[in-house]
Amino acid sequence: MGGTRRQQIATWLAERAYTLDELVRACGVSKAIVAEDIRHIARSVHPPRRLRIDPSRCRQCGFTFTKRERITDPSRCPRCRNEWISPQAFHIT
Ligand SMILES: [Zn+2]
Repeated sequence: MGGTRRQQIATWLAERAYTLDELVRACGVSKAIVAEDIRHIARSVHPPRRLRIDPSRCRQCGFTFTKRERITDPSRCPRCRNEWISPQAFHIT
């Protein structure tokens, strides 16, 4: 049940920050499905609480992916072309 899984994800995100891959492993569904769940949760969190996203960061040059709208992680640094990127983390606070 999608609703139940979303509630479970929202509960986890209220406890600590999770990366997309961690949630995919915990839920056993595809990355696309979890990304859609996160988008849905982001819209349904009641203020003043909200879904916060710790941005991805290039582990080579330190470039930070702020202003990023996408839930899925970037694959390559636009500044140095490195592909060693730390994942975004999602947290409800
Ligand atoms: Zn870089």
